[in-house]
Amino acid sequence: MKTDMKDVLTGLDRYEVFLEKLEEEIRNVGDDRIVIVYTDIKHFKYINDTYGYKVGDALLRDFVNEFMKAEGIIICAARVYSDNFVTANRIAADGPSNEEFRDIIHRLNQERETKFREKYLSSRLQFSTGISVIDKNSRRLDAETAVSNANLARKVAKEMENDCCVLFDQSMMEGIKREVEITSSIPRALSQREFKVYFQPKIDTETLLLIGAEALIRWQKPDGSFIYPDEFIPLIERSGQIVDVDYYVYREVFAFLAARLKEDKWVVPISVNVSRVHLSRMHILEYVKVLLEEFQVPCSLVEFELTESIYLENTERALELIKGLHKLGFKVSMDDFGSGYSSLNLLSKLPIDIIKLDRVFLKEGEMQENDRIIISCVVDMARRLKITSLCEGVETLEQSNYLKEVGCQMQQGFYFSRPIPQEVFEKLLDENGEI
Ligand code: C2E
Ligand code: CA
Ligand code: CA
Repeated sequence: MKTDMKDVLTGLDRYEVFLEKLEEEIRNVGDDRIVIVYTDIKHFKYINDTYGYKVGDALLRDFVNEFMKAEGIIICAARVYSDNFVTANRIAADGPSNEEFRDIIHRLNQERETKFREKYLSSRLQFSTGISVIDKNSRRLDAETAVSNANLARKVAKEMENDCCVLFDQSMMEGIKREVEITSSIPRALSQREFKVYFQPKIDTETLLLIGAEALIRWQKPDGSFIYPDEFIPLIERSGQIVDVDYYVYREVFAFLAARLKEDKWVVPISVNVSRVHLSRMHILEYVKVLLEEFQVPCSLVEFELTESIYLENTERALELIKGLHKLGFKVSMDDFGSGYSSLNLLSKLPIDIIKLDRVFLKEGEMQENDRIIISCVVDMARRLKITSLCEGVETLEQSNYLKEVGCQMQQGFYFSRPIPQEVFEKLLDENGEI
């Protein structure tokens, strides 16, 4: 065989050759199944960066020896690129089921991980594998699609904490389709003003009067249907489009406040959400500065909410952002406190102004003694640190009364009001905030 048909580093087929062979196998699948196994090495870049390319190359060769030896039923194999490998395996009709095969690969991956972690002194090394299956029913599937399905399953596996091996299924395609549909309609949604800012009132615990609101985005499609942020925000965070969408919301909020101030109408401070994506770019400060100059809104009327996990993921950057926002005169809150791995330590380290207790503290039904204790401690600690406390997700009178008892200063939740459209919120302001 000609040498240029082989990958120089690993001696495996080149990917184009692999696809040709696979095409042929698919045509002759008969009653057997062809199983595509697509694997990559998580944190391979770390090995390359830490130990150099020589070690990285040795690891790749080792990896190939290992998996060629183990799978046994491999009909062809290739390195797609870098640390991405694919094999095609033929399984007889009475061989292991797809799920059994996945379990075998799962076990093999774990064994290989142990071995490689010892050899390459990296506890982070991990294999992620996606599997797709071609049987006589899917004979019309071409080789490239079959590999791309396995690759998609691999991406799903890579995001999982405990599962390194995932079988492709059609619903993954649905997910991808939805993602493409959403991300590709963002430019239109922005230019056609399909995004609407809703406002959820915040209430002063002592007086039960309106003292602020949180701006929450809604997407109303041209057909009138709504898409909620929990569905589209994670997708547009991945694509980076959240930056433009957040800026859109900030601009709407500044414009809303400026318009009311111009007419001498009553306003309350409005908080806006800050996606984690801003942390890697930091243009946000410049953008907000532009808004301040353009709309001449006092900075005491806008607050920025950063979700708890942002602080944990990148404390340095988060601190830089808080300082920048403070310098411009804005208040900053820690959103969703208690929803993840809350670090009480962070509270004393970061100069935040407001802590928003997540609704996990207020579970459905009667309040449990343990939750009461935790809420009262967090509120007490915040008070001592001179941080204002607000509890989110208040749904009942009992919860609201308890928050009053422990001295939580502000409340927000369906018990007082759901997020409401701007016109309704304006009416509320015009009626002096009587909820
Ligand atoms: P969040 O910032 O924690 O916002 C509070 C969410 O809780 C809102 O959901 C709100 O409708 C809901 N909620 C309020 N009170 C209650 C209650 O009493 N009970 C229950 N069960 N839920 C309550 P929403 O509007 O669907 O927003 C979901 C998340 O999407 C927000 O969570 C926030 O993380 C994100 N988000 C919303 N708007 C924006 C935005 O403009 N920019 C960014 N970056 N994220 C946004
Ligand atoms: Ca929020
Ligand atoms: Ca929240």
